[in-house]
Amino acid sequence: MNPKTHLIIAIDGHSSCGKSTVAKAVATHLNYTYIDSGAMYRAVTLFCMNAKLIKDNTIDEEQLRAKIDQIQIEFRSNLGSDHAHTYLNGVCVEETIRELTVSKLVSPVSKIPFVRTAMVKLQRKLSQNRGVVMDGRDIGTVVFPHADLKIFMTASDEIRAQRRYDELKAKGQEVEFAAVLHNIRERDYIDSNRETSPLRQAEDAVVLDNSYLNRKEQLEWILSLIKERFSHLSN
Ligand code: C5P
Repeated sequence: MNPKTHLIIAIDGHSSCGKSTVAKAVATHLNYTYIDSGAMYRAVTLFCMNAKLIKDNTIDEEQLRAKIDQIQIEFRSNLGSDHAHTYLNGVCVEETIRELTVSKLVSPVSKIPFVRTAMVKLQRKLSQNRGVVMDGRDIGTVVFPHADLKIFMTASDEIRAQRRYDELKAKGQEVEFAAVLHNIRERDYIDSNRETSPLRQAEDAVVLDNSYLNRKEQLEWILSLIKERFSHLSN
């Protein structure tokens, strides 16, 4: 059998530990497609918010089930940007879905089994016949249990909250550090304890704790792992 030339690389882990930053860098380096699965769950959450399907933190699951086929999520490459932007029913929502208002509701929405079924289907479809780096919570366990390389990323809660806080502040958003820390802990808790596809480390995943690693060091760490395991790839 010829060795594979296009790998599926799954990067799972805790909230706000820089998965997407490193995943994007790896994808760019290998000339692969980067897929941000969290953006999909965030887009579904924004849809629920816009359609007023969430009241007092309760999601109207019946209504959402009836409307799920109306939710169209795409990633489009934008000129002048190094990564594709998320579109919800034709509208760019790349910035909006990162706001804390969405982050606060995304884990309860992601718990819903029929939401997960729809997203996993889309994630697999977008990954057909290409080299892919996908980050999320269940990529190595559920979406691609046979991924060629699985990485499980983590870092201390405080360090992750500080990074996310700095990022939101740099975008001009008014947020409190305590609220960001609380959100990260709460999402990790809900994501790890839900019944369907909980966040957990796949048995064959390699752990990357990036608490004290900069972006360049993380990229180099992953690239050397790829080189070691897939020496037939020229990159
Ligand atoms: O990766 P990100 O932090 O943007 O993901 C937002 C939320 O989407 C997570 O906290 C989790 O609830 C959900 N998610 C998920 N499964 C994935 C990716 C994200 O449940 N594969």
